[in-house]
Amino acid sequence: MPFRAYRIHQENGRAVARFEQLTLDDLSAGDVVVRVTYSGINYKDALAATGAGRILRKYPLVGGVDLAGVVESSADARYQPGDHVLVTGSDLSETLDGGYSEYARVRGESVIPIPRTLDDRSAMALGTAGFTAALAIHRMEENGQAPASGPVVVTGATGGVGSIAIDMLASRGYEVIAVSGKEQAVGYLQSLGATRVLMRQAIDYGSRPLERAEYAGAIDNVGGEPLAWLTRTVSYGGNIACVGLAGSPKLETTVMPFILRAVNLLGINSVSTPRALRLAVWDRIATDLAPRHLDQIVTREIGFDALPAAFAPYIEGKITGRTVVRIG
Ligand code: NDP
Repeated sequence: MPFRAYRIHQENGRAVARFEQLTLDDLSAGDVVVRVTYSGINYKDALAATGAGRILRKYPLVGGVDLAGVVESSADARYQPGDHVLVTGSDLSETLDGGYSEYARVRGESVIPIPRTLDDRSAMALGTAGFTAALAIHRMEENGQAPASGPVVVTGATGGVGSIAIDMLASRGYEVIAVSGKEQAVGYLQSLGATRVLMRQAIDYGSRPLERAEYAGAIDNVGGEPLAWLTRTVSYGGNIACVGLAGSPKLETTVMPFILRAVNLLGINSVSTPRALRLAVWDRIATDLAPRHLDQIVTREIGFDALPAAFAPYIEGKITGRTVVRIG
């Protein structure tokens, strides 16, 4: 039975995306067929669909790094028809067909049962952004971060990862300092739990190898100068979770923070996370890292038809919060 999918092609060296009618046989191989109900939009989805960044490693592919829905059929004994499941990352929209499709065929290994405290929509309100925020906090805490250590900075604060990270950190009892480029979003960031909001444009980044140690840790979504500044201002033993490059892929710093302050730069990769860690992180999302302001963070819910027009503001850095996409 044909179904609708939003598929990305490469034509004359450019990414071109459009709705198409596909059948299951058109999709990458997998042992679980899911009737997709919801997906979401991440910065990476916008890069892939518009061609602003090179995300796909083969063409054509159905876009969408995230999906939630109901198992239609499964050759993997861990899943039964009717189960509500999600997939984030796991090579979707990189080398495998993704979630912008009424049906998806995925590898059982990448499938996560939706925790009982969530439904398909809230699972996609979180999506890769929520999973990544939780993974960053989990890795920092494994490495000794605790609310008592002191304030944690979140950059790219109004974005998907940033908004959810603020909410989760604050609900865990951390003092959170948000760094944003959007003056109009101060109230939004405070309502999620940020105690202070710094405007990116107004920060004195300094230039010495070490500046005054003011922060106990950070979750960085932007890279470049703000990340370099964090390496110079995080205090002894603090953790910086390196998540994103919304500003720049560059990092120019010295070894001083690492050898004189024992600062830890933690690499965060949400795509290839091993299954056991993935399950542990979703378990925390359902319990002690449960977001408290997800309704506020979902600033847009759109139908499948509206998807093509929804990517541009991501590339322009204009997005606040998360977009949920109704597929089924
Ligand atoms: P969003 O597009 O939702 O948010 C990005 C935010 O970054 C913007 O809202 C803006 O926040 C800030 N920003 C945008 N442009 C610039 C700029 N030029 N300089 C500085 N800040 C800027 O993205 P996501 O939250 O989905 O992702 C954030 C980053 O993390 C992206 O780079 C993404 O690719 C990466 N990522 C990495 C993952 C991993 O596994 N490592 C997983 C998920 C995301 P504000 O205006 O408040 O500063």
